[in-house]
Amino acid sequence: MRSTTAWRTATSGALEPALIRRRSLRPDDLAVRVDHCGVCHTDLHSVRDRTDDEAVVPGHEFTGAVTEVGSGVTRFRIGDRVAVGNIVDSCGTCAMCRTGQENFCHDFPTLTYGGTDRLDRTPTSGGFAREYVVRDRFAYALPPALDPAGAAPLLCAGITVWEPLRALDVGPGTRVAVVGLGGLGHLAVKLAAALGAEVSVVSRSSSKRDDARRLGAHELIVSTDAAQLAAARERFDVVVDTVAVAHDLSPYLRLVALDGTLTQVGHLGPVTVNTTDLLIGRKSLSSAGSGGTRATAELLDFCAEHGITADVEVLPSAKVNEALDRLARGDVRYRFVLDMSDL
Ligand SMILES: [Zn+2]
Ligand SMILES: [Zn+2]
Repeated sequence: MRSTTAWRTATSGALEPALIRRRSLRPDDLAVRVDHCGVCHTDLHSVRDRTDDEAVVPGHEFTGAVTEVGSGVTRFRIGDRVAVGNIVDSCGTCAMCRTGQENFCHDFPTLTYGGTDRLDRTPTSGGFAREYVVRDRFAYALPPALDPAGAAPLLCAGITVWEPLRALDVGPGTRVAVVGLGGLGHLAVKLAAALGAEVSVVSRSSSKRDDARRLGAHELIVSTDAAQLAAARERFDVVVDTVAVAHDLSPYLRLVALDGTLTQVGHLGPVTVNTTDLLIGRKSLSSAGSGGTRATAELLDFCAEHGITADVEVLPSAKVNEALDRLARGDVRYRFVLDMSDL
């Protein structure tokens, strides 16, 4: 076993520094020095809405450098820049794994934290730590063109919106609306625009209009303005709904064009949909989350080619609790990334 410093949940309800264990390297493992880790809504839930007493180290979108490799590793060498997302293993044999969609593994993928290692059955601890040990198949070469802080959120927020954009064939001529301009939404705008789509943002207020344009959208539709929503009726081939709290989907389904799709990426759980809202216009409703190894590697290449990273506010990891507080009130443009060098 090896040990590393980390930010771990404590009875106080905040994250506190702790010394945690990592497994000794297996033949196909890498030890990664975590330099930057993004702060995702999932992290906030795992700290604030805990239902059991098991301590958790959050963090599942990080970048860093390889410091040690197992005896069988050929894809990486010491010193390589790498990125890791929210899946660190899967069964490798089911139909989903065989097509590179390990995020949908029939045996459920091993999560980067809060999961259970498939071999030694120990709980996994995340990237709010100075070191992570990961199976080489689930580490990605970080292209030299990408800033390591700005690239970290690509591994969760980025891939979550990239997979549906690709699956829905978003490209030149596609009319895309992105609902909600947060961590996921701002990346959806950048990626859809770089794919060649005509992008609009749907937001509760006009306060982010300048940002929307800077990110690559050509307009901002204010969702609380009934006239603006009505004018946008059936204008979009793809609507990417990033709103992460339960809400009525019908106003956004009304924006979908004939044979178009509303894709919901906010993990809403049960929602009620009136199928008439799908019938009129032969519309589809889909969802997506996280990503497989194939799409994640493709996303990193695409981002390197197009110069895309997240807009981030980098904080020393010692400010992790402040980052969670501010994330809870939506006070971030558009993703916090922790600099782990103070650990
Ligand atoms: Zn996440
Ligand atoms: Zn599988």
